Amino acid sequence: MPTPNLSSPPICPDCDGFPVVAITTGTRQPNGQRTTITVDCRACNGTGTTPARRPVRLSVSAGVSC
Ligand SMILES: [Zn+2]
Repeated sequence: MPTPNLSSPPICPDCDGFPVVAITTGTRQPNGQRTTITVDCRACNGTGTTPARRPVRLSVSAGVSC
């Protein structure tokens, strides 16, 4: 029974933790290799985890003393 790791960031629900997908275009290069392109998940920007939410409000420091 796996122990839930609370310190790990949540897995991106859009790609389910597999942010990079290799797609074979079908065309072959002169050396015989197939052209493969990799696409990163846009939801998590290729990280596989949901991006950490930043606080919406930024504390404006009024009266900054030099
Ligand atoms: Zn993702």
